[in-house]
Amino acid sequence: MQEDRNNQKPACPSERPCTKTLIKHRWKTAFKERNGGYKPDQDPIHRLSRAEQTAIFRLRTGHCGFKAHLKRIGVAESALCDCGAADQTVEHVLNTCTNFTLLRNQIWPEGATLETKLWGTSEDLKATFQFTTAAELRP
Ligand SMILES: [Zn+2]
Repeated sequence: MQEDRNNQKPACPSERPCTKTLIKHRWKTAFKERNGGYKPDQDPIHRLSRAEQTAIFRLRTGHCGFKAHLKRIGVAESALCDCGAADQTVEHVLNTCTNFTLLRNQIWPEGATLETKLWGTSEDLKATFQFTTAAELRP
């Protein structure tokens, strides 16, 4: 065993950095395969109707008809949500606003992350659109 090590010319000066580098590389590759960064041609938003695309795009960017944005651009007096618990942001409305708890549980009975609601499959995005439509929100 010792002789084999001495005869080989490893790429790294010791085993430890090689292993660390290999693990890091594998992790980065796996992450890239899973997420791949943003690939516009593979974004499921393109499989939606125009109205659905517009709503999801507005929700993703936060440039929508919710009070937090309207306050930011000087159109609304207050950013506070109608429930009174927090500013009416995309995250608040989609994830925690008590005004929509029942509807949220109907559309996402298993629960869903904000990431899934905004960046998931085309079915996930359609569910988000369905939520905003049923809630009579105009994103
Ligand atoms: Zn609220």
